[in-house]
Amino acid sequence: MKLKILVTAGDGIGPEVTNEAVAVLKEIAALGGHTFEFDYKRIGGIAITTDGTPLPKDTLDAALASDAVLLGAVGGNEFNSLPPDKRPEAGLLAIRAALGGFANLRPCFSFKELTSNSPLRPEVIDGADILFVRELLGGLYFGAPREWNKEKGEAFNTMRYTRDEVARVARIAFKLAQNRRKKLCSVDKANVLETSQLWRASVNEIASEFPDVTVEHQYVDAMAMHLMNRPKDFDVVLTENLFGDILSDESGVITGSLGMLPSATIGGKVNLYEPIHGSAPDIAGKGIANPCGAILTGALILRHSAGLEAEAGAIETAVRKMLEQGYRTPDLVRGKDHGYTVLSTPEVGAKVREMVKTILVNA
Ligand code: NAD
Repeated sequence: MKLKILVTAGDGIGPEVTNEAVAVLKEIAALGGHTFEFDYKRIGGIAITTDGTPLPKDTLDAALASDAVLLGAVGGNEFNSLPPDKRPEAGLLAIRAALGGFANLRPCFSFKELTSNSPLRPEVIDGADILFVRELLGGLYFGAPREWNKEKGEAFNTMRYTRDEVARVARIAFKLAQNRRKKLCSVDKANVLETSQLWRASVNEIASEFPDVTVEHQYVDAMAMHLMNRPKDFDVVLTENLFGDILSDESGVITGSLGMLPSATIGGKVNLYEPIHGSAPDIAGKGIANPCGAILTGALILRHSAGLEAEAGAIETAVRKMLEQGYRTPDLVRGKDHGYTVLSTPEVGAKVREMVKTILVNA
């Protein structure tokens, strides 16, 4: 298998965590005889400082010519006074738009060893494994007209969806459900919103193509509660843009740490992969960032851009095993007498590689 991966590490802890993700992918390539080529380009604050723009043209060209883009994180306090369209985050929005991915996948799972990090009770979250599929290019964030009329003291946004926009993201969600526990929960507000009525009707149309997947519909307000009360009941959760943004962040508490969660945006010209955390300027350069979110993002590259399911699973198992054996980055420990072995970012990366190797060699 050949794969061209563009690494846009970005700012803060971005380079630290993507280094570990790349090292794990290199280990997998070496073990399986795969050729993964890595190219590196600037995005975000580092690109503003060096190139005067958060998304230089050669970064975008390289992204469009690659099979997958691995992004670290962007942003830094020194850029906070810039206008929104000049800030590092503008580079992120621009690359997402240019790559055109419309389905944002956010796995959200509990790690048995981290249940005490979550504010939810262990028996509620232990075993939870949800995959959010969030529509990313439509809805309120993009709908026109939109305006804030300061003189009139009035502002509005437009929520708009077409049947085709719903159908394409729903198909992706149903296909993913087929390879999981074959359950899909579609979230809307069909008791109030016409866009949600169209959403529900379109999801039901697509459901008929996937008779092996059980479908349920939930209103977004009820769903916000169900996710905290009984997260284990859900498998694939399909949502429009705004609802997915809120519910997937809310469900981050199931995992108990921002540093553990990966994401993928698929369906466009090139898939974009990124851990969900930001550039964490407060810990950048200290070697203490948790690289697991980025490493697990590497697993999503293997699953969704290379079809290497066994290798993706090996990374996920390796991260679990590392936690089982009591290794932790500082963000995962509380108090002094925790009894864990606290490791640096590169040390965690090395442990995961060691375990991936053991898993794949013995498979
Ligand atoms: P953040 O995710 O960077 O950090 C929030 C808190 O979580 C911090 O205390 C940080 O130390 C901790 N944290 C985050 N990731 C961690 C990791 N891997 N290991 C250990 N601890 C971790 O969010 P923020 O502080 O709101 O934002 C900081 C900057 O990142 C801002 O400029 C923001 O705009 C940017 N940001 C970028 C992205 C992205 O690039 N996708 C996402 C969110 C925020």
